[in-house]
Amino acid sequence: MEDIRVRIAPSPSGNLHIGTARTALFNYLFAKKNNGKFVLRIEDTDLERSNAAYTQNIYDSLKALGLNWDEGPDVGGNYGPYQQSQRFDIYPKYAKKLVEMGYAYECFCTPEELEAEKEESIKNKKPHMYSGKCKNLTEAEKAKLRAEGRVPSIRFKVPQGETKYDDMVKGELKFDNSLIGDFVIMKSNGTPTYNFAVVIDDMEMKISHIIRGEDHISNTAKQIMIYNALGAEVPKFGHLGMILAPDRSKLSKRHGATAVSEFVEKGYLTEALLNFVALLGWSPSDGVEIKTLEQIASDFRIHEISSSNSVFEYDKLNWMNGQYIKKMDIKELTEKAKPFLTKYNLNELTEEQLEKVIAATREPITILSDLTYDTAYFFGKDIEYEDGVKEKNIDTEQAQNILKYFYEQLDSYDFNNEEKLHEQLAEFRTYFKEQFSIKPKETMWTVRAALTGRTHGADMGVILDVLGKEKVKYRIENAIV
Ligand code: GLU
Repeated sequence: MEDIRVRIAPSPSGNLHIGTARTALFNYLFAKKNNGKFVLRIEDTDLERSNAAYTQNIYDSLKALGLNWDEGPDVGGNYGPYQQSQRFDIYPKYAKKLVEMGYAYECFCTPEELEAEKEESIKNKKPHMYSGKCKNLTEAEKAKLRAEGRVPSIRFKVPQGETKYDDMVKGELKFDNSLIGDFVIMKSNGTPTYNFAVVIDDMEMKISHIIRGEDHISNTAKQIMIYNALGAEVPKFGHLGMILAPDRSKLSKRHGATAVSEFVEKGYLTEALLNFVALLGWSPSDGVEIKTLEQIASDFRIHEISSSNSVFEYDKLNWMNGQYIKKMDIKELTEKAKPFLTKYNLNELTEEQLEKVIAATREPITILSDLTYDTAYFFGKDIEYEDGVKEKNIDTEQAQNILKYFYEQLDSYDFNNEEKLHEQLAEFRTYFKEQFSIKPKETMWTVRAALTGRTHGADMGVILDVLGKEKVKYRIENAIV
């Protein structure tokens, strides 16, 4: 069997997009499934738009998702360099070869001339294609143009006929070559275009399968022509449907986060993100959607990928993230929660107390940033009342009686024993129920309001335990008028 080699080839002109993360995942899964290699190539030929910070973001995001690569710019491999800007000396050799073999030619048209051609097509309501003006220039004509100071680009000569291939996801696809104009493979500044660099790199890196978004389908025809001209083996292609926003338009910033790091900054867990993007095009055979990367890998078949577009449902991602938050190991979750608690002085609590706080507040949340608000009353001395809470639960005569009695009781509370605290609180509310027919939940709302400023939140036993006697007394005292 041939060696399976796949790649993800992001351009560092932005932070790693969630759609690229899905493409990376499907390539990774395909490699895992077939004992193949997963390669990372940084496509930074567009030096103006590329940026080292984005390259770093791509590394960090892929790593955070657990999509580790076997070969890449940082880890090396037998087919490097894996960063296109370090491969600039490779492309002209192949371009020259194509010119020599008659598969490509020098084009001396200026940007202005090309623009004029384009405008002419628009005027005549014809699809624009390069006219082929420079295709048959004689040596003398070329010399003359050169003498004018023109520096040529190199264009690929699109052959007649059609280009056909069997897409792993979409089935057989056919392109009429007469609709594709001769395209530039090397710009006049000596840098390769995407379609050329990608073929040379995939060929040299012995990539066997190319799995990418369907926005590249029209490029694929051009790329196959280049493989054929070079006499190279054409890899197998698989094009994934697009990821659309809930309103069925292209997913963009307008809809919310789009980069993996942006999601992480908002409080999404990379495990949940990965699981979620896997479901954009792939369905588990047992219908169970929550799955680890290993479980997904064992169930993954590229031919079962849906060829249609998928909708990025933020609500579903929120739900899934909540599921992961509920289940995550508490130490790990606490670590991940810390960046969302930077406005508090974490030194007020021991690590163990902080874990208790997170364990007691994680249940209803969907994203980690919810913890900023939900844990607020565990920090600092004073609390802030939510709207209406004080009026309803503190300022009444009944509430004041409850708080006074609670305050008196506090010295007998066992603050170092959470279980005991639960019992004591239960006795306390039973007392008010039996003596004054006050509903236990009302009693607790009052105590909770005095300690947290809210009527909902973490378990009261945990609140007393973590705040400790001194702070509890202080806050109750403050609530008593
Ligand atoms: N650099 C290209 C992109 O980010 C890679 C496309 C491909 O996979 O060929 O879209």
